[in-house]
Amino acid sequence: MRVIQEEHAVVMVVCELGISAERLQAVEEECRRRGLQPQRLQSGSRYFITLAALANDHRLALEHWPGVERLVPTVNSFRPETDSAPLAAQQVVLRPEGGVLGGVRIGVIAGPCSVEDRAMLLETAHAVREAGAIGLRGGAFKPRTNPYSFQGLGEKALEFLAEAREQTGLAVVTEAMSVQQVELVARYADVVQIGARNMHNFVLLSAAGRCGKPVLLKRGWSATLEELLHAAEYIIAEGNPQVILCERGVRTFEQHVRNTLSLSIVPALKQHTPLPVIVDPSQGTGLRGLVNPMSKAALAAGADGLIIEVHPRPDAALTDAEQSVSLEQFGELMSELPALVTALGREMAITND
Ligand code: PEP
Ligand code: MN
Repeated sequence: MRVIQEEHAVVMVVCELGISAERLQAVEEECRRRGLQPQRLQSGSRYFITLAALANDHRLALEHWPGVERLVPTVNSFRPETDSAPLAAQQVVLRPEGGVLGGVRIGVIAGPCSVEDRAMLLETAHAVREAGAIGLRGGAFKPRTNPYSFQGLGEKALEFLAEAREQTGLAVVTEAMSVQQVELVARYADVVQIGARNMHNFVLLSAAGRCGKPVLLKRGWSATLEELLHAAEYIIAEGNPQVILCERGVRTFEQHVRNTLSLSIVPALKQHTPLPVIVDPSQGTGLRGLVNPMSKAALAAGADGLIIEVHPRPDAALTDAEQSVSLEQFGELMSELPALVTALGREMAITND
């Protein structure tokens, strides 16, 4: 795996809430004494100090310095020349009413690849809610390889998704494929998805950063860890720290799966960013029979959540039929997860309403 190069590595010192001005200055003084170049950032009443590459002995000393809560490795794309640089979130709130993902909480987002009609969406939404999901996925605008295949129902699908949210309380997650679609999608959705094909579309990333909703950012199928983090930074740089990173498989020589799920990026990302990381075992394998085991593997690797394609009649799905699981298969997986989540020392996220 390519690791973020040392000269690009930055460590963020997270200071304790309510740290006194004297203590804050003392931390900065200690950094300067060690030849580091501290840059102070403030977010609300919380102070952060970014440092250029940090040797281990400095790290150990600073971790225990009075007023320091913890050290977080990140990438050097925060804007150190401003003192209001936005900071990556540790947890993302999918909806104001509940559904927090990240930190100790593991959340599951589920639903059809595409919204096909009102009845199938509502049927799926109620079933996945019943099974314990916190989010409802469903494509309204679909990125299709073949221009003559089903492209999604557009705004009609967004209306169905909003109705499903009203009925179930689930947070709606759906993709915007262009800058022009961002505002429309954000009006209906709780979380705006940026698809794998658009991870490098920097104008779209910036627009998503201004949309006022959390963003689910999928890793491009040939993007490196560093490229994914920089794509996230485009969103964060617009003042939106609520970004969820998503591993959805990469292209390899392998033929027995649609994509190769690159699970090692999950713990690797955790070493570089506080952002929540989720896994899509549906696009990630292309085979419904692999969704259950790879979901569990993803959580064991440290993922903060899953996004899974579920369809009431999977074989008849208009898009991604082979990788869509049935309502029963999804229910079975969800009933198996709590034991694993508890063993991992974590909790399942819940939706309140
Ligand atoms: C999807 O979620 O249905 C999708 C198209 O995902 P990706 O962008 O990861 O291919
Ligand atoms: Mn799909």
